[in-house]
Amino acid sequence: MIVVASHRYAGRQIALPTRHGKQRVLARPLWHGLGLELRHAATVDTDTFGSFSGEISRPADALNTCRLKAEAGMRALALDLGIASEGAFGPHPAVPLLPVGREWMVFVDQRDHLVISEQLLCRTTNFSSCRASDPAAITGWLKQVGFPSHALMVRAHEPSAPTAPWLAKGVQDLIELADLMAAAAHRSPLGQAWLETDMRAHCNPTRRASIRQLAFQLVRRVASACPACGAPGWGVVSRVPGLPCSSCGLGTELIRFEQLGCVACDHTQLRPRRDGLISADPSQCPYCNP
Ligand SMILES: [Zn+2]
Ligand SMILES: [Zn+2]
Repeated sequence: MIVVASHRYAGRQIALPTRHGKQRVLARPLWHGLGLELRHAATVDTDTFGSFSGEISRPADALNTCRLKAEAGMRALALDLGIASEGAFGPHPAVPLLPVGREWMVFVDQRDHLVISEQLLCRTTNFSSCRASDPAAITGWLKQVGFPSHALMVRAHEPSAPTAPWLAKGVQDLIELADLMAAAAHRSPLGQAWLETDMRAHCNPTRRASIRQLAFQLVRRVASACPACGAPGWGVVSRVPGLPCSSCGLGTELIRFEQLGCVACDHTQLRPRRDGLISADPSQCPYCNP
């Protein structure tokens, strides 16, 4: 991979809008990887672009929401570079019992009209919910979700009103949790509190680690130049299935190539899988193992 001369962004400033402490996660990767100075766009209310706790829905899909947030930060600080991130949590698409996180991060270069993004599927997440009347009944769950280093949100368990307002978010104290659960249980027709992990970055060290990992991934991509036009942001744009079966040679659904692409021109390249796998086990083949 060709690396862009580091002076392209070195010494410039980049805006990050966040209400959740992400500046403490992103400053180092941007500085070490690109020589960029992070400026915190503290006046932008990022919750107006959607919140995890469900009160406000996103104005667009995750990547476009990210771009809109980055642009709001750039406007607030009158800068031509911006960055923003976005996360979502839910069941794994293929294994519904397994919780999974998705993180998106977008780098916007307004001067050169470039939008560069990366995303991450996070198998390590504490995303979970539970219902109970008091903390003593859920000691195992509290341990599993990393309480109290990872915060919780509490509301009454009301099956008829699953989006009822939260009594509290960012709860990291056991005595406070017990009081809130008692209050929530009192309001609940079933006498139970509904608890959910608070996924906001400042409340969730596991999520901060994912955001940090994605930041380094995005910085590497920004530092990679298109071999045709030299623009930054060269990287994987899609994955092409069809890895041949080792027994019959028929294409399987497994990934055969990664397609690399540019954000500024139409140049693309195919490259083989990075793990070196050149054929699929016949157990994965629709012909050998229908
Ligand atoms: Zn086969
Ligand atoms: Zn190009």
